[in-house]
Amino acid sequence: MASSNAFGWAATDSSGHLSPFHFTRRENEADDVTLKILYCGVCHSDLHTVKNDWGFTTYPVVPGHEIAGIVTKVGSNVTKFKEGDRVGVGVIVDSCKECESCQQDLESYCPKPVFTYNAPYKGTRTQGGYSNFVVVHQRYVLQFPGNLPLDAGAPLLCAGITVYSPMKYYGMTEPGKHLGVAGLGGLGHVAIKFGKAFGLKVTVISSSPSKEAEAIDLLRADSFLLSSDPEKMKAATGTMDYIIDTISAVHSLVSLFGLLKLNGKLVTVGLPSKPLQLPIFPLVMGRKLIGGSNFGGLKETQEMLDFCGKHNITANIELIKMDEINTAMERLSKADVKYRFVIDVANSLSSSNI
Ligand code: NAP
Ligand code: ZN
Repeated sequence: MASSNAFGWAATDSSGHLSPFHFTRRENEADDVTLKILYCGVCHSDLHTVKNDWGFTTYPVVPGHEIAGIVTKVGSNVTKFKEGDRVGVGVIVDSCKECESCQQDLESYCPKPVFTYNAPYKGTRTQGGYSNFVVVHQRYVLQFPGNLPLDAGAPLLCAGITVYSPMKYYGMTEPGKHLGVAGLGGLGHVAIKFGKAFGLKVTVISSSPSKEAEAIDLLRADSFLLSSDPEKMKAATGTMDYIIDTISAVHSLVSLFGLLKLNGKLVTVGLPSKPLQLPIFPLVMGRKLIGGSNFGGLKETQEMLDFCGKHNITANIELIKMDEINTAMERLSKADVKYRFVIDVANSLSSSNI
């Protein structure tokens, strides 16, 4: 297959350190959209991957699956996009298109997904959005609503859809109900915004006392619960209808179950590197439900972007230059981010020693 030169920043071993990297991308074919990457969000999954936390990283790996940019070329079969369109690419760039999941627009649950990076694909490997351009089959490309900025909009492509999809699927949208958001990072802060847009009361459950004021004043949560404060946790026992758990590290579920009412639902989207213990007694005694959820399919991702356009929902971002990525990753590993790093790719990649 023909290919063309690309450049970006890659990790080459499990130190996770990123540095400039040249590689090849496939040529634009009939069903493909090529986009010049302007911005790319920094997801904790990028960090898990460069550190090989999950044990399946193949190096070198260029991370990045919150990609926003401009269409520079379309293949002859492409009807939905044209040059100059403001588009995005999220976690997935291909799937089998034939299985039950793909036929139901649930490509995120296809047994043969092709992830945006760190996946074998057409005789090579996919590489992500910490790079200058990408070529993607049109089915896996999203259109940005005109009113959404591409920098603060980019994180919606993973962080946004990963919390929106379970909230819809598990029915965590009934106005007036009480949602707990565990972990106030990239996913968590967008979950607050969806919760408020759905008319829920939202409480942040956080391990970081420094995030309290902004959770309330800036992100508009109704209340803040410090998970390390036993008295406040006790006082909140049995008060929540739903919890969305976005915590990236191993943590105890028993205290979260305690916050749920009878019939409460806890949905976990975080992907810690080791299994969590499942406390059966509180689950059974309170007829509680625990579920998991992956990022959503393409149709739902477009629906989510349109919803964000309508409700003016974007991420709160710290815009960084490409050569600040290693510092940003270090901060992300310490839960020190407000609330998503986004790389200003187009304005900083070319000046980075390549
Ligand atoms: P993030 O921005 O780093 O946020 C994670 C938050 O978890 C932190 O800000 C922190 O919030 C909390 N946390 C971290 N370490 C903790 C610890 N030891 N104990 C308690 N709380 C801790 O990460 P993210 O990008 O939102 O991603 C969150 C998780 O979701 C990651 O595991 C990621 O891989 C996963 N993910 C899954 C999907 C999917 O499709 N299912 C998609 C995207 C991401 P506080 O400071 O408030 O405690
Ligand atoms: Zn992600």
